[in-house]
Amino acid sequence: MSVFALVDCNSFFCSCEKVFRPDLKNKPVIVLSNNDGCAVARTNEAKALGIKMGVPYFKIKHIVKAHKVTTFSSNFALYADMSQRVMQTLREFSPQMEVYSIDEAFLSFNGMERMDLTKYSHEIKNTVYRYTGIPVSIGIARTKVLAKMANYLAKKHNNLNNVLDLTNPTLLERALKATPVSEIWGVGQKSASKLNSLNINTAWELKNSNPKVIKKHLHLPGERVLRELNEESCIHLDCDEVGRKQILSSRSFGRPVNALDELTQAVSMHTTRVCEKLRRQNSVAQKLTVFLQTNPHKNEPQYYNSKTVHLTSSANSTNILLKNASQALRSIYKKGYLFKKCGVYVSDLSPLKQQQLSLFDSPKQNEKQKNLMLAVDKINAQNGRDTIKLASCGLEQKWGMRSTMRSPAFTTKWHELLNVT
Ligand SMILES: [Mg+2]
Repeated sequence: MSVFALVDCNSFFCSCEKVFRPDLKNKPVIVLSNNDGCAVARTNEAKALGIKMGVPYFKIKHIVKAHKVTTFSSNFALYADMSQRVMQTLREFSPQMEVYSIDEAFLSFNGMERMDLTKYSHEIKNTVYRYTGIPVSIGIARTKVLAKMANYLAKKHNNLNNVLDLTNPTLLERALKATPVSEIWGVGQKSASKLNSLNINTAWELKNSNPKVIKKHLHLPGERVLRELNEESCIHLDCDEVGRKQILSSRSFGRPVNALDELTQAVSMHTTRVCEKLRRQNSVAQKLTVFLQTNPHKNEPQYYNSKTVHLTSSANSTNILLKNASQALRSIYKKGYLFKKCGVYVSDLSPLKQQQLSLFDSPKQNEKQKNLMLAVDKINAQNGRDTIKLASCGLEQKWGMRSTMRSPAFTTKWHELLNVT
């Protein structure tokens, strides 16, 4: 039988900020989304003040002021780097791991059943904290759905000290009885209401319900959750990080943008990011899509359009994709609108090894492109993102994100290293 551990960082973005601000220990801290819009991370102290997830900043400004809540703009360079450190540390503890999101990973504990898994998880937790400064919670169980539940409870109940092992049948029964169906992984708000109307309110009641009834109302996904609650593993570990079907880069502008050359800069930047990701995972794309849109929440003339280009041969070179992206942008651009957002995504991905060249492509030219991109990636990896970039990305990006309270990139930029005085 399989055993999974779900490791989840506690209030991840806030914890990253607190690593470099020890003075914020036990203080309320929040992190805001792109353009300082909404609260997307909160420490327990901030939650206790009634600050809800995703609430717009202007609605909580009075709480922030009254209780001296320390507020940060998103600093994704910092979070991505800290995430990598956490994941790297976790890899030492299991041969198989799935990075599920920026702050969560599933580890396989298969074959370790004879060990004291609670003790082992405390060791993982303490090591991650010692190496990175990030606190984590760990839930252990025979299926992913149950590991998620274990994690949820490990975070919620202080006496568990952030680790809960639900391979123990007594604890499992208690946990299932204490968990409402709305808190089960894979059960959305609509399914939860449906279950409640069938008088199924707890995970325990769902586990013991008739599979035929569940399948009738919640279809296959519901049946799968039911089986997972019964310790039958259906959702396997996805260790294959190459298999992503599409890659997207998009962002809202810090202010409305209407000039074509500014949009071209933004589209160039997004294309560059997308190509970097393609090359990092050794794949090539056949299709490229560019889109732009006005702000639907404003009482202004509205326009949305997108253009998909089928490349003559699949590619991951920034040069080639940029040419196509800027042509696509020109074909959908219209004067006189205030644009709020634009983006680029690629689809129809395949591994680089299977790259199809079109009849008229020269293999020599292709090789040259590949070497050029290798050199660019290497220089940027050593000296920081965008040390070398194509001129169309612009030297001064006036349209960038608004983030007035962003902390320094402590771990990724030499000139922003933490000063200790
Ligand atoms: Mg988390």
